[in-house]
Amino acid sequence: MNSDISILTAKIYSAVAPNKEQYARFEKFIEKKYGSDVSIEWVESKAFPGGFRMEVGSDIYDWSVGGRFRQLRDTLVKVPATNGNIIPLLKETISSWTPAALAEQVGEVKTVGDGIATVTGLGQATYGEILLFTDGVRGMVQDIRTDEIGCVLFNDDENVEQGSSVKRTGKTAGVPVGEAFLGRVVDSLGVPIDGLGEIEASGYMPIETPAPSIMDRQPVDTPLETGIFSIDSMFPIGRGQRELIIGDRQTGKTAIAVDAMINQNGKNCITIYVAIGQKNSSVVQIQQTLKKHGAMDHSIIVCASASEPAPLQYIAPYAGCAMAEYFMNKGKDVLIVYDDLSKHAVAYRALSLLLDRSPGREAYPGDVFYLHSRLLERAARLSDKIGGGSITALPIVETQAGDVSAYIPTNIISITDGQIFLESDLFFAGQRPAVNVGLSVSRVGGAAQTKAMKKATGTLRIDLAQYREMEVFTQFASDLDEQTRSQLEYGAGLMRMLRQKQYHPKSQHEQVITLVMALAHTMKGLDVDKVTPFIEGLIEEFETAHQDICTRIDSTGVLDDDLKQEIIDISAKYRTKWQ
Ligand code: ATP
Ligand code: MG
Repeated sequence: MNSDISILTAKIYSAVAPNKEQYARFEKFIEKKYGSDVSIEWVESKAFPGGFRMEVGSDIYDWSVGGRFRQLRDTLVKVPATNGNIIPLLKETISSWTPAALAEQVGEVKTVGDGIATVTGLGQATYGEILLFTDGVRGMVQDIRTDEIGCVLFNDDENVEQGSSVKRTGKTAGVPVGEAFLGRVVDSLGVPIDGLGEIEASGYMPIETPAPSIMDRQPVDTPLETGIFSIDSMFPIGRGQRELIIGDRQTGKTAIAVDAMINQNGKNCITIYVAIGQKNSSVVQIQQTLKKHGAMDHSIIVCASASEPAPLQYIAPYAGCAMAEYFMNKGKDVLIVYDDLSKHAVAYRALSLLLDRSPGREAYPGDVFYLHSRLLERAARLSDKIGGGSITALPIVETQAGDVSAYIPTNIISITDGQIFLESDLFFAGQRPAVNVGLSVSRVGGAAQTKAMKKATGTLRIDLAQYREMEVFTQFASDLDEQTRSQLEYGAGLMRMLRQKQYHPKSQHEQVITLVMALAHTMKGLDVDKVTPFIEGLIEEFETAHQDICTRIDSTGVLDDDLKQEIIDISAKYRTKWQ
C-alpha cells in the first residue's frame, strides 16, 4: 500500500508523548505496513487525552479513547433486535469486544462550488462511491483523475470549504426501497418530502445496477393497457417494453403518462413517476390527480424539481429505477415514467461541464448516450425462473419545433422499442391526444395485444394513413366525386373517434366494440360532431343491454367471427336511432 510514495510522514497525535517502548511499537507497525522510508513525527494534541491517533498519508489509525468508543458503538448497533431481554445480548457483545486499530482514509477538499468538490488524497476511492464531508454532507465520486477526484454533492455545500476533510464510505450510492414507499412522494435520495412522516424501508438498493442479462429475460408478450384508445389500438405497449413519448412542449406528453398510470388501478401493476427538472407545483398537481383518481395507492413519485441541484436531478431516474427493481425482483409488474429525459440530459451536461469534462456535440459530454442506455436497459420482463416480474418504461422527451432529429431525441429513439410522437398542430386543432399516426410506432407491442384487440384493430392504421394522404391532396379541390367524399368523411370520423378526454381511460371492451363498429363503416353519413356522443351512447347501450358481450371480451380477450358480427348488427340497429 502506498509504496509509490517514497517520502511519507507518520503523524502521531496524543496528549502525552509516547514513551520509548510505545515509540518502538509504532516504528515496527509502520515499517511492516509502509516500509522503512517513513519519518515519524509526534504532535501534541489535547483532543486525544487517552491513547493515540496516527495519520500516515491518507490512512488514519485510531487508538484513542474516542475511536474505541465509536467502535464499541458500531458493534452495539449491530446487535440483533429481539423481542426478549436484550441485556444478556449486550453483555455478551461487550465482553467479546476487542478494540481494533481503526484504519480509515481521509482526504482533503481542494476546491468547492456549484455543488461540485474536487478532493485530493483519496487515491483508492472508486467511481460512484459515496464520500462523507463535514456536517454529514454527502457526495458521489464522478470523476477520477491522476491526482484528484471530482465529486458531486447531494446536500448544500455551505459548510464544505477548502481544506476540510473528506472520508470514504466504501459504499456506492443507493436508495431505501420497500412497500412503504407506495403512496409517497420522495426526493432522489428516498427522503420523504410530502410531510407524511418517515418511511420504514424494507431494504437498500444501489441506484446503479447492471441490466438483467439475456438469459434472465423473456419475450414481451403481455399487454400493458394504457387505456388510451389511439395507443392501445395502434401502438400497443407490452410489459417490459420501453416506449418513448416525444413531442414539443405542451402537447399532452405528461397527460398520456398520467392516464396510463391511472389505468393501472386494480390491475396489479405498481406505477412510479420520476419528475426531473419540473416545477414543484406541477408535481403537486400530478400527486393530487393521481390521488383523486385512486391511483396514488399503487404509485411512488420521485421528485427532483428544477430547484434541486443538478446532481440530484441526475440521479433521480436511477433512484426511481432502483425502487422499481425492488418490486420487479419480487415478481411484480411496474410501470415507470421518466418525465423528462431532455431535462435529465441538461442536468448531466451542467454537471459534466462543471467537472471540466470536454464538451462534445451540443455541449453534451461524450457519454451522454450511455447515460440513457444504461437506464433504459434496466427495463425488462424477467424469466419465470426468477419471478417473472417486469419494468415497463415510458421515458418522455421534449422536442424543439418538432425536431426529432436533434441529438438527445435521436439517441433515445434508438434505445427505445418505439415512440408515441405528439404533434402541436394536431393538439391545437383539438385532436387530443395528439398522436401522429405516421411517425409513431411500437416495435414489440403487436405481440402484446390481446387477440380481440388485434382482430378489432384491423385496417385502422392503413385507413388513417390513406385519409391523411387524401386530405392533403384534396385540400384545394372544390368539387369532389362521391367516393372521395365518403372516404374523407370516413377518415374524419375515425380521427374524431380517437379523441379522448384526459382521465377517461377506456376499457378493453369499449375499445373493441368501438373499433368493430367504426371499421364496419357504421357511422357513414353521421355528422362528425355527433361521433363522440354516438359512441358514448353505443357503449352505454352495450353495457346495459348486452353486458355479456362486454364481460366476454374483457375476460377472454378473444373476438370470434360470430361475436364480431353480433357487435356489428347491434351497432347498425343503434345507428338507425341517429340521423
Ligand atoms: P410540458 O411540455 O409543459 O411538460 P406536456 O407536453 O407534458 O407539457 P401536458 O402538461 O400533459 O403537456 O398537457 C398540456 C395541457 O393540455 C394540459 O393543460 C392538459 O390538461 C391538456 N391536455 C392534455 N391532454 C389532453 C386531452 N386528451 N384532452 C384535453 N386536454 C388535454
Ligand atoms: Mg409535461
